[in-house]
Amino acid sequence: MPVADPELMKIVEARILNKKVCRKCGALNPPTATRCRRCKSKNLRPKRKQVAMKK
Ligand SMILES: [Zn+2]
Repeated sequence: MPVADPELMKIVEARILNKKVCRKCGALNPPTATRCRRCKSKNLRPKRKQVAMKK
């Protein structure tokens, strides 16, 4: 019997993926961030597996 609740995992996963990661120092930033809060670099990448289907 699996311990993890699939619904809970979805929420947790979404929260983890909804972040921006600095390419320079690897710090996690809020999805709304335009620059890194640690090194002030603008070199951020979204940490998302799937691209939002907005077109
Ligand atoms: Zn950084």
